Amino acid sequence: MLGAIEAGGTKFVCAVGDEKGKITDRIQIPTTTPEETLPKVIDFFKKYPVEAIGIGSFGPIDVNRESPTYGHITSTPKPGWKDYPFVQTIQDAFDVPMGFHTDVNAAALGEATFGAAKGLDSCLYITVGTGIGAGALVQGQLLQGHSHPEMGHILVRRHPRDPYHGRCPYHDDCLEGLAAGPAIEERWGEKGIRLAEREEVWELEGYYIAQALMQYILILSPKRIILGGGVMNQKQVFPSIYQYLEQFLRDYVSLPELSEYIVSPGLGNDAGITGALLLARQAWSESRKVY
Ligand code: ADP
Ligand code: ZN
Repeated sequence: MLGAIEAGGTKFVCAVGDEKGKITDRIQIPTTTPEETLPKVIDFFKKYPVEAIGIGSFGPIDVNRESPTYGHITSTPKPGWKDYPFVQTIQDAFDVPMGFHTDVNAAALGEATFGAAKGLDSCLYITVGTGIGAGALVQGQLLQGHSHPEMGHILVRRHPRDPYHGRCPYHDDCLEGLAAGPAIEERWGEKGIRLAEREEVWELEGYYIAQALMQYILILSPKRIILGGGVMNQKQVFPSIYQYLEQFLRDYVSLPELSEYIVSPGLGNDAGITGALLLARQAWSESRKVY
């Protein structure tokens, strides 16, 4: 039996299941402080004979296995979580192999294995929610370098008629600062869900997301792009993205039909937790390797 944790800024999802991605039990725990949240996580897994645990976590996180702070959450503003040894705390409770990646990298793996990019060795998973983040599978591997990618914070061109200052605490008007859920809410004075009828909202959203996708496409050339997160429930953003992307790229690169290339998650809200289960499977297999 495998264990999976999807650690988010507002909630933790914990699940147990098998290597085929089948989940047999799960719980949700609110994300408060590590001292309050993690004992509940540990209690959940204590009920099961888990042989490995995979974690997809909010970040930034230290994913470099050579680093003395491997497994830590690093520079989050969330109280109590900054520099917190997340993997170590779980590892102290369960002496089993563990996998650790960003939530979005886990979701990319889930989607490439069982979801909208099933069978592909390359895809990009982007979430547009409270923040913007992206994970990538490249040649069958989750993309990771010195650290993990932070594609939500790229710089984009401001729309000439968008006076909004942006709200990223680090960069003001990076992509996340201009296009994540809280930016939409602050710019237009209402929650995104209540702006469904306002065409100009979603056209502008498409304008920024299309710029980001253009850059990801030019740099990574993914085989499929999956757009998840709360904001992407506004399906009217998709046509705006397709239209702007065509306008920006101007046929320079050949792409599949955009409505099949840039899609919603096949696993819905379960992309991340399913990916975390697959990270557990990977960690378990690696621990069995004979060198
Ligand atoms: P999180 O990023 O915290 O995991 P979500 O992906 O649900 O959670 O993102 C929350 C953000 O998305 C909020 O800013 C919220 O206003 C916005 N949001 C959630 N659902 C919708 C919706 N149906 N339409 C537009 N915006 C939404
Ligand atoms: Zn930023």
